[in-house]
Amino acid sequence: MNEVSVAQAEAIREIMRIIVDDDLAKGISPGDSAVCDHCRQIKPAPGFIMYDQYKLCNDCSCEYELARVQGRVHSPRQFMRRAPKFASGSPSS
Ligand SMILES: [Zn+2]
Repeated sequence: MNEVSVAQAEAIREIMRIIVDDDLAKGISPGDSAVCDHCRQIKPAPGFIMYDQYKLCNDCSCEYELARVQGRVHSPRQFMRRAPKFASGSPSS
């Protein structure tokens, strides 16, 4: 079992913040929103990241990166099969 250090988790959160800033700098409006492919929730458009064909919100991207450094998932596809941490209710379909 590969524990993630607090420093690693902090580093990932920092990267996610930078990605949000980056998107804002590119002109993506904080008022825009998009649906996350993982948690299926409507989230602010700045901060979304594409992993292969999946579009993940900032929270799920953070989760994915954490899971990846911990060795819990090895691909975006594998991550997509996991239950989203932030979802409310059970997934449909
Ligand atoms: Zn999400």
